[in-house]
Amino acid sequence: MSEPLPGVGVTPLSGLGTARWYRPDERPDPESVEAAAPETERERFADAQAQAREEIETERENTAERVGEEEAAVFDAHLQFLDDPQITDGVDEAIEDGAAAEAGVARAYGSAIEQFEGMEGMMAERADDMRDIRDRLLRILSGGERMDLETLPEGTVLLAERLTPSDTAQLDPERVAGFATATGGRTSHAAIFARSLGIPAVVGVGEDLLAIDEGADVAIDATNDAVIVDPDEETRERVTTSRDIEVRSEPVETADGVEIEVAANLGTTAELDGAVDQGADGIGLYRTEFLFLDREQPPDEDEQFESYVDALEAFPDGRVVVRTLDIGGDKPIPYLDAEAEENPFLGNRGIRRSLDEDSDLFESQLRALLRTAAEGDGRLSVMFPLVSTTEELDAALDAVDAAAESLDEEGIEYERPELGVMIETPAAVMMADELASRLDFFSIGTNDLSQYVMAASRENDAVAHLHDPLHPAVLRAIHRSVEAAHDNDAWIGMCGEMAGDPSVTKLLVGLGLDELSMSAVTIPEVKAGITETDTESAEELAERALGASTKLEVRETITDSQ
Ligand code: PEP
Ligand code: MG
Repeated sequence: MSEPLPGVGVTPLSGLGTARWYRPDERPDPESVEAAAPETERERFADAQAQAREEIETERENTAERVGEEEAAVFDAHLQFLDDPQITDGVDEAIEDGAAAEAGVARAYGSAIEQFEGMEGMMAERADDMRDIRDRLLRILSGGERMDLETLPEGTVLLAERLTPSDTAQLDPERVAGFATATGGRTSHAAIFARSLGIPAVVGVGEDLLAIDEGADVAIDATNDAVIVDPDEETRERVTTSRDIEVRSEPVETADGVEIEVAANLGTTAELDGAVDQGADGIGLYRTEFLFLDREQPPDEDEQFESYVDALEAFPDGRVVVRTLDIGGDKPIPYLDAEAEENPFLGNRGIRRSLDEDSDLFESQLRALLRTAAEGDGRLSVMFPLVSTTEELDAALDAVDAAAESLDEEGIEYERPELGVMIETPAAVMMADELASRLDFFSIGTNDLSQYVMAASRENDAVAHLHDPLHPAVLRAIHRSVEAAHDNDAWIGMCGEMAGDPSVTKLLVGLGLDELSMSAVTIPEVKAGITETDTESAEELAERALGASTKLEVRETITDSQ
């Protein structure tokens, strides 16, 4: 067995299978293709564009069917990029200068890719979309066949330097045991689709992945963020049996009868079925940013209303917490004006934008949400991201009042939803009493709270050891927020990644969280953990962990209590 190759597990699933390399980039160097007359090259390019359009439209249809309508929207963006005059003019110019269509495509898309790569976070991942189109055009121009990703032999572990969104969307979870890529991060489209499809996946493994031989036995151990070549018997057993766990569709209680709500985090409504299938009690975080990404215009009030109603209807007995638009930071949106910032995570993001340059979007989102609250049997809750001051909260609450008033005036039916904020900044923790006194609930976003409490970027591997919610400083911030919420009769949940880590479920119960929200795939484990937990011993564990002075001590305390 090889040493496990570390990467980023994007689904807490594992799989075992036979390595199959996907190398769509093995083509002649575009610059070495001999050019015919410009007129002929222009024609070749136009024909390649037409074929690409046809392929994308077919893939769009297949993705809508297999993954979901919202994920399929990425192909609309591809169609736009395919005809984007800024890029196609570049191809024409290169052809005019005597280049072959291949070189024109490589140069024009290459410079667009470079521009996107120069940006931060999710925007940088749009470069993947550009690469996807470039590679598709180059393949068509070279007359190359595609590897049929939809019908890979059963038990395939697909290995690739990178997978594009359209590659990933074609994978069939029934056939593919998992995939691993050398590049990519947790928020790349490949990762998002893998989660939606429930495919074990580890991305960002780096150069070491490239050394794996075709046909090797490979375990994708996404739960432990690793790829293992020639796994031993013990590993084989672990990666093939770890998901044998009962799905509990009813709400669960601790061993001594305290009910804890276990909800799912949602990026798009295509994930609703998965959330129901894994036994979610409701939705604890609906990240509405995804509704606004990969398109040229924001969704209007009615389109948003439909998506929110879909979520509410999926949980007639549960609660759906929708977070208002949280862009900026790692999630810029191309069509919204955003000045390049030196330090976007400390800049204009979340509620700050909603109360300022995006106030029109905020208003239409609030109107859509208030209308949704009047629909169906489920309960709607709305929360605001990245709040740090009471003034911001008051302004957001005023915006809710204004949305209600405008609906009232127009005679449109609405209800006021439950209102809350995410606890993501140290300022919100320090002001938690004042915030809670104005609200129904809090939801702790440990991904951001850890980065701001520890001053350690969630995107920088070099400080990953600091960006960890088990540092006593973060645990104490959580504890303080729980106390403030309960002192003010508000409920408090957690929707950061920490909530879905079964190894800390007991600690979170002991800290007094009322709700835990996570990627749907971890719900069964966390629900099982809750039923095995006794609150008295969980509270003792929490007390010991809060008294620890290092992360290591916290970990030891958790291990000792198991
Ligand atoms: C968080 O910060 O923990 C959170 C859930 O929000 P996001 O990951 O979308 O920033
Ligand atoms: Mg956050």
